[in-house]
Amino acid sequence: MDRRDFLKLSAMAPVAGGLLLLPQGVGARGIPAAALGERPAGLCYQAPPAGAIAATLKDLFKIGPGPSSSHTVAPIRIAGNFRAAVAALPGDQLARAARIEVTLFGSLSATGKGHRTDRAILAGLLGQQPETCDTALMDALHDTTQVRTTQIGGKQFELSGATLVWDLGDHAFPYANTLIMRLLAGDGTSIFEREYYSTGGGFYTWKGEPPPERGQPVHRFGSMTQLQERATATGLPLHRIMLDNEMAIMGIGEPEVNDHLDLVIDTMDRGVTLGLTEEGPLPGPFVLYRKAKRINEQAAKADGGEAFMGELSSFALAVSEGNAAGRLAVTAPTLGSAGTMPAVLYTLNRRMQVPREALRQGLMAAGAVGLICKTNASVAGAEMGCQAEIGVASAMAAALLAQATGASPQVTENAATIALEHHLGMTCDPVGGFVLIPCIERNAFGAIKAYNAWLIAKNEIASQHWEDLDRVIAAMAEAGRAMPARLREMGTGGLGVTLVEC
Ligand code: SF4
Repeated sequence: MDRRDFLKLSAMAPVAGGLLLLPQGVGARGIPAAALGERPAGLCYQAPPAGAIAATLKDLFKIGPGPSSSHTVAPIRIAGNFRAAVAALPGDQLARAARIEVTLFGSLSATGKGHRTDRAILAGLLGQQPETCDTALMDALHDTTQVRTTQIGGKQFELSGATLVWDLGDHAFPYANTLIMRLLAGDGTSIFEREYYSTGGGFYTWKGEPPPERGQPVHRFGSMTQLQERATATGLPLHRIMLDNEMAIMGIGEPEVNDHLDLVIDTMDRGVTLGLTEEGPLPGPFVLYRKAKRINEQAAKADGGEAFMGELSSFALAVSEGNAAGRLAVTAPTLGSAGTMPAVLYTLNRRMQVPREALRQGLMAAGAVGLICKTNASVAGAEMGCQAEIGVASAMAAALLAQATGASPQVTENAATIALEHHLGMTCDPVGGFVLIPCIERNAFGAIKAYNAWLIAKNEIASQHWEDLDRVIAAMAEAGRAMPARLREMGTGGLGVTLVEC
């Protein structure tokens, strides 16, 4: 239904106390302006254009070492891409090469040491892959004075902290998280270089990158409205649409899709299990103690809501603490927000005994929400604040809960919408640039809000819900663009300032 049709329907809707009511049985797509009286001219929501999301669940749910997908997972992948590109250079160019230099800009530079970006780049240049990364090596790379060697294209290179240049000035690159990797000759001239952008959630691209060679999606959609229209037109559930697209774009079968989803489920589950056994301080420049185990033990002694909320929070804390310590986690949609979805997933899996197939379907619906948010706004704290990380994670977790428990597409969307709506405006202000405060506890709140969003969505009359996901995503994008840079993962605003003694 377009806006005009909706206004016509609204005009026919019942009136109570002078207020327009949403017609029964009609999906909510915007509150009629007529209900609100005088408004400034020109305030109009623009729906996303028709499009096709070509990113996949495999792109979204990546496994890699913490603490930050944009600052660790993407840099490892970027360094691996550069390594492969250098190895493919003609022999005469490689013969002139003397060293590799990496210059970091924006948030990567401002908070990269706290986020382990230096270690991630060195690990990637040493040939590590995110999903199989040796986390002990990542710990050892803390000593950036140590010189390590690697062979690329048959040529030996030395790598150390001196490989990195931290450019702390303003920049005009199109993405907040930019790094330039250069292969230099002995006289310092550039033989080969690429300008890379870490775009959030472990995604990256580079200047002039050709479009990837992939299949076309079976179902074309660029927003939740378009996805819902596709579901209505085909009679397919949301997860089936996602599955069809995943297979078509990646050129794989259902068993391979399930293998990846199972790896995601098992990694999330293991993150909770391990995190609940650990105690003591987390690595970082100030002493922050783990608390997941203690919160879990206290929840086990409590009753009712205190028991449930304590347990759900402890699951999120467990994964986030592991992520802060550099353990492998799943980008959902990022590693800073890696604890929110596992808390809900663990609850569905271990407490509610939801079958594996339903968990996969839930992940697919959550993936749809994450990909739509990334396409129409962002999932990077450096671009749009924490609303784009924990807010999107909470929306994904709410969709996971709804879909895995058999909710309709409308209820699933409403649950995601409610969760995201109540994170709007949340800034990214990590203390010292470390993914510790406020990040770890924020994951617990993301999980609690997801659960509450699901409760509201499944118990209200779905068609009476005014807000829709696309409009809330548009509000997130507007709030993100209005947010000052210091409140977008620079570590120089908000709690990053007020919690630090001068
Ligand atoms: S404050 Fe939020 S967005 Fe920023 S690093 Fe922490 S979890 Fe990520």
